[in-house]
Amino acid sequence: MLKLSDLSVKYGSYTALHSIDLKVNQGELVVLLGANGAGKSTIFKTISGLLKPVAGQVEFMGQPIGGMPPDRIVKAGIAQCPEGRKLFADMPVLKNLILGGYVHRKDKAGVEAILEWVYELFPILYDKRNDTAGSLSGGQQQMVAIAKALMAKPKLLLLDEPSVGLAPLVVEQMFETIAEINRNGTSILLAEQNAYAALQIAHRGYVIENGRIVLEGTTDMLNDNEEVRRAYIGA
Ligand code: ATP
Repeated sequence: MLKLSDLSVKYGSYTALHSIDLKVNQGELVVLLGANGAGKSTIFKTISGLLKPVAGQVEFMGQPIGGMPPDRIVKAGIAQCPEGRKLFADMPVLKNLILGGYVHRKDKAGVEAILEWVYELFPILYDKRNDTAGSLSGGQQQMVAIAKALMAKPKLLLLDEPSVGLAPLVVEQMFETIAEINRNGTSILLAEQNAYAALQIAHRGYVIENGRIVLEGTTDMLNDNEEVRRAYIGA
C-alpha cells in the first residue's frame, strides 16, 4: 500500500533521512520506533507532501506520490495526525472535526456518517462537541487530533507520537482505540517512543536512528531484541 524506496531527505545541506526503505501493507499497523531527532517526523512530512525527497520514491497504492501537493495526498487516502496535535484551540471540537473532513465537504452524507463513527470511537467528543478544543484535557485533545485525521476517511493513517505527554492509563486507552481503528480496516503507520505500548498493538516495526533504518521485523522479534529492550523499553 505504502512503499518508501531508497528515500533521502535534506534540510538545506543536512541529510535527515538516508536511503529509507519502508512499507505498510494493506490492513497493517506498523510502528516506527526512534528517539528524539531520529527522523520519524521527517518521514511523515515527506509522505504527506510537506517535504520533497532529494532521492528515492514514495509510492501509495502503486502510484508515485513523492512531491505531490499535500491536499492531493489527503485526497489519495493518506491523513496525518501530526505531533503536537495542531488543533484550532479557540474553535469548538465539532468545527475542528469538520475541517478534518474538508476534502469530502461535497459529500454531506458521507461526512455525517464518518462523524458518527468517530463519535462511537470517542464518545467523550460527542459530549464535548461544542466546547473549544483548547479547553479539553491533553488526552481528549489527542482524541480530537486523531478524530480530525479520520474525518478525511484515510486508507492510511499516519500517527506521530500520540502518547506524548499523556498519563499511562490514558495511553493504554488511546492504544486500544488505535488498534480498533486498524481492525476497522484503516492501515496505520505509528511513530512512537513508547515502544512498550506500541509493540503490543503493532504487527511489524522499524527502528530508526540518525535518519537510517537500523532494524526491522515482526513485533515479537523487536520485543525480544536486546537493543530495542535497552533503548526503548528499559528492561
Ligand atoms: P522528534 O520526536 O523530536 O520530532 P523525530 O524522530 O521526529 O524526533 P525529526 O523531527 O524528523 O525527528 O528530525 C530529524 C532530524 O532533522 C533532527 O536532527 C532534526 O534536528 C532535524 N530537523 C528537523 N526539522 C528540521 C528543520 N526544519 N530544519 C533543519 N533540521 C531539521
